[in-house]
Amino acid sequence: MKKLGKLSIGLGDRFGHQGAAQLKAIMDASKKGVEIVPVWNKSNREHTFIGTVPGDVRKEADSVTKAARFTKDYFVDADHINFENVDRFIPSSDFFTIDVAAWIGQKAGDEDIKVFVGEAEKYKGKLIIPGIPKPFNITRLYLRQTAEKYLFASKMAGIIYRKIEKQKGKGNFITEISMDEVAHPQTPAELFFILMMLGREKIPVQTIAPKFQGRFNKGVDYAGLPEQFALEFESDLLVIGHAVKEFRLPENLKISVHSGSDKFAIYPHIGRIIKKHNSGIHLKTAGTTWLEEVIGLAESGGEALTFVKEIYAKSLDKIDELCVPYADVIDIDKSSLPAKDEVSGWTGSKFASSIRHIPGNKDYNPNMRQLIHVSFKLAAMRIDEYYKLLEKNNKIVGQCVYENVYERHICKLFNIG
Ligand SMILES: [Zn+2]
Repeated sequence: MKKLGKLSIGLGDRFGHQGAAQLKAIMDASKKGVEIVPVWNKSNREHTFIGTVPGDVRKEADSVTKAARFTKDYFVDADHINFENVDRFIPSSDFFTIDVAAWIGQKAGDEDIKVFVGEAEKYKGKLIIPGIPKPFNITRLYLRQTAEKYLFASKMAGIIYRKIEKQKGKGNFITEISMDEVAHPQTPAELFFILMMLGREKIPVQTIAPKFQGRFNKGVDYAGLPEQFALEFESDLLVIGHAVKEFRLPENLKISVHSGSDKFAIYPHIGRIIKKHNSGIHLKTAGTTWLEEVIGLAESGGEALTFVKEIYAKSLDKIDELCVPYADVIDIDKSSLPAKDEVSGWTGSKFASSIRHIPGNKDYNPNMRQLIHVSFKLAAMRIDEYYKLLEKNNKIVGQCVYENVYERHICKLFNIG
């Protein structure tokens, strides 16, 4: 059976040019004694926006690992797939993130709900999860409400899982279940019963991505109370440990944090808690390689700097259109965005430090960073020109991508000094 290692990172690479730099970060962590499994992920939405196909991610992953003589495990993740779009991912992916968000809240049939509540009755009363100080108070009404909210979604996950299994064969791929793209977080008690439902569907889920409290905006830091997140994260982790035994789920089942990248405020908490419990983690990052490409091109100067300045100017003109698909995962204060004319006079290093995520740097502007992050479509519209610039300035750009993954993500999360 394909098994995901204890520590793994989901790497996004929108334009498919940075796999080698990302892999170097993984290999350097290994030299420091931290073994991380790289997983290249790309969602259907991103493929559509850029005009790539799932097979492109497979080609990139295979070619960069081969070139680097990387012989350990790596995976290609069909990220946030659903019933409609899973087919096109099946041949090239060996990791599937089945997204059930759209079905949460849709009610299963009355008979199904009744059967589930009957089976779950044994948890009624005070449900004790080892390690969590306060037992959960489970009533029959609570079980019914939880079934009404999640049972249908778990059944859909089962249908999609079996569709993939039929084509790929049992044990030939990793399964993740995601429910992070919803309005409200799932509580640890809900997570327990969701895992019970997935166990009933016999889905060998190896990673699960709940929604946590706070905001996980794309490419910027966590917005919320890190200590509160830590409590929630630790409870979820303990629930998973208990659920694995109760529901015969894979023993390596672990939390997947769909981080949207750059959640520096919570990385030390995650690192500390997984160490304390000797648990694993899958940290999924967003396609912020694109931001690092822009930073690298700005630093390269000349025509590359001109190009990224033009992208920024255009992003101001099209700001509303660009932000709409990401409304739930960005917070841009328009009044804090520098004007086109001002930016046109900037040096490359001023442009780069305005969008490079170094908290405390006086030039860092998270509003500009988020706007550029959602503006990758503007580069996709000038794709030949963009690829030429990337290839010409490959060294500087690759170094930016590497430093970002290694120093700002891996070292912070796994406490590498
Ligand atoms: Zn997600």
